[in-house]
Amino acid sequence: MTPKIARFLAADSPVCPCLVFDLDRVEANFRNLRRALPLAQIYYAVKANPAAPVLERLVSLGSRFDAASFEEIRSCLAAGALPADISFGNTIKKAAAIRAAHEAGIRLYAFDSAEELAKLAENAPGAAVYCRIMVENEGADWPLSRKFGAEIGLARELMLCAGDLGLDPCGLSFHVGSQQTRTASYEAAIGRVAMLFTDLAEAGVNLRMVNLGGGFPARYRETVPDIDDFATAIMGAMTAHFGNALPEMLIEPGRCIVADAGVVASEVVLVSRRAKDDPVRWVYLDIGRFGGLAETENEAIRYQIATPHDGGPAGPVAIAGPTCDGADILYQRTPYRLPIALAAGDRVLLEGTGAYVTTYASQRFNGFTPLAEHYL
Ligand SMILES: *Cc1c(COP(=O)(O)O)cnc(C)c1O
Repeated sequence: MTPKIARFLAADSPVCPCLVFDLDRVEANFRNLRRALPLAQIYYAVKANPAAPVLERLVSLGSRFDAASFEEIRSCLAAGALPADISFGNTIKKAAAIRAAHEAGIRLYAFDSAEELAKLAENAPGAAVYCRIMVENEGADWPLSRKFGAEIGLARELMLCAGDLGLDPCGLSFHVGSQQTRTASYEAAIGRVAMLFTDLAEAGVNLRMVNLGGGFPARYRETVPDIDDFATAIMGAMTAHFGNALPEMLIEPGRCIVADAGVVASEVVLVSRRAKDDPVRWVYLDIGRFGGLAETENEAIRYQIATPHDGGPAGPVAIAGPTCDGADILYQRTPYRLPIALAAGDRVLLEGTGAYVTTYASQRFNGFTPLAEHYL
């Protein structure tokens, strides 16, 4: 937690649940990434946290943006981004959204199928397009692999026909999976992209861009390699495969820009036991799976939790949300221990919740108000 967040929590005692977010941390994370990978253009993945203050700060730093919908494109434009600095990176787009983006001046689009390529040709004639290829997502706590990406053979065929459709086939992309903890995943993916680059060049299509996607991890309960380790691996692989004919490099970080800039403050609603002597206490918070903590599905993302009693004796707990849905459990298998003194009414802090939380909150499921957001 940053000093700014700590001061706000102490002075303002905001109503829970809420996200308290330090914009200076976003700036520090962005600058650190740009320093580590100076040759890569940063396209912030808007979905990680689309709040206007975040987008505005990133515009002021010269960030570009990866948008998943026309609504996200509109948010970027409203924050001051130029159409030329926005990529429509979702491979699944309605024709109407493509048309709206094209009319708004968006030039760069992702696809991973023949069907989507045809849609782009029809609704965004002349656009620059890149094909997302399927890569291994091993090592990612929040994998994306099964839903996206074309097999190499299909990608080759699609890139060959994009020109005939009146589009500009500019490059290839991949995503190694979110919260990716292995630098080797990028190396392997770059190897696959490079092979296809060579193959397509021999067939007469010269690509100029590689989009390395996102995936860079945030620090939750476990330590992760730092951004310099990823940068070293990426530049090593790029140089090994492309020599001094490096293509333009794009990265689309989401999580690593915003996760550690935010803290969710939550009130303990109930601490109870299922049976009289059960050593495991159930801790029910006023935020759960439906209040924005969707990434606790399969206990994939394990947030660090701070309480007012830290340092005192602790015991095992299961942690759940406040709704009447049985799926609203955050952690039951992951060993969590919280202080014995923890009681209803206490305020706990979930750290690293600046990414993938606010927008995952449901529309008042069980009547609960979605979490408030404070951008400092
Ligand atoms: C979600 C997403 C990202 C951001 O991923 P992070 O793991 O948050 O860095 C980047 N690119 C695309 C296409 C995405 O879908």
